[in-house]
Amino acid sequence: MPDECAEGCLVPVMNVSELADGVKNGQRRALARAITLIESGRADHRVMATEVLQTLKGTQRQALRIGLSGTPGVGKSTFIESFGMMLTGQGLRVAVLAVDPSSTRSGGSILGDKTRMERLSRDPNAFIRPSPSQSQLGGVARRTREAVMLCEAAGFDVVLIETVGVGQSETMVAEMSDLFLLLLAPAGGDELQGVKRGIMEIADIILVNKADGDLKPAAMRTCADYTGALRLLRKRAQDPEGFPKAMLVSALQEDGLLQAWAEMQDLADWRKTEGHWQANRVRQSRHWFEEEVRYGLLAQLQEDPVIRAQMQHLGQSVAQGQTTPTAAARKLLNQLAQGK
Ligand code: GDP
Repeated sequence: MPDECAEGCLVPVMNVSELADGVKNGQRRALARAITLIESGRADHRVMATEVLQTLKGTQRQALRIGLSGTPGVGKSTFIESFGMMLTGQGLRVAVLAVDPSSTRSGGSILGDKTRMERLSRDPNAFIRPSPSQSQLGGVARRTREAVMLCEAAGFDVVLIETVGVGQSETMVAEMSDLFLLLLAPAGGDELQGVKRGIMEIADIILVNKADGDLKPAAMRTCADYTGALRLLRKRAQDPEGFPKAMLVSALQEDGLLQAWAEMQDLADWRKTEGHWQANRVRQSRHWFEEEVRYGLLAQLQEDPVIRAQMQHLGQSVAQGQTTPTAAARKLLNQLAQGK
């Protein structure tokens, strides 16, 4: 019997060990249900979700977590479909998750369209889940991170986490990925497409897509530009010689995908051998622990009516220019420390 939660999502009434077993055995239905559970805002669902995750921790399975970013229209769905089909063709199991900042606002999600990746969504070795709709990007990212853990426990070999190049979403996705890909389209001019420096610094491989037909010469120029720009970046400890790198692909013609996959595997292998892989996951776990504490503290504060009223009052003083944000925050924290 399904049970309607506050957000209108359906969460089955199932016990923790049944659900965890289903996920562990790679049952897609159980995985989908477990993800619905972690996306629920209801307190009892949160408790259950935490238990499911805790139970599954013991599986020790590790997928290759690949973050993928690119602006709308660059070819993300086409790439994920072609790349995903190539991987499942090699006998690998592929999960696709999304972090979509637009889904946090009303008006729907850029990445949630069900008609995307039609072939891949029918592939029994693939699992596709659109971005959860929550009120804050932080909430979406936190739940997606847990969904990654579920997919990993369900035995997926590759987990692709897709996002659009908006706001903080890329940094958040990078914090839950082992490798990060940036998808670009051929540029018209010779400028670097206004790509933010920050994303260049987190990208491991830049894939210049649409390297086919009339667009090929422009794609080659763009690839050369980025190869040059990447050389100017400071060398990172977690990179072997030659990384980060820019490459040409055509998602539409399924060109360059095998080479891109070979580069991803080389990089992942190198990082594993050198210890960077594990160190990165440890650092990420700490990061998410701190995020959970920060988020939990804020939620606790907002649940308390007295504190909420104080926050509103101080927020108004800040808005009216009567006090600075720092002074108002300090005042609130002082009051909290004194137990008022
Ligand atoms: P998304 O918004 O990033 O998910 O982009 P889509 O995958 O929906 O692709 C946007 C448009 O670019 C579509 O019309 C695709 O057919 C086209 N496209 C995607 N990949 C390629 C490619 O490799 N070559 C060419 N020529 N067009 C492509």
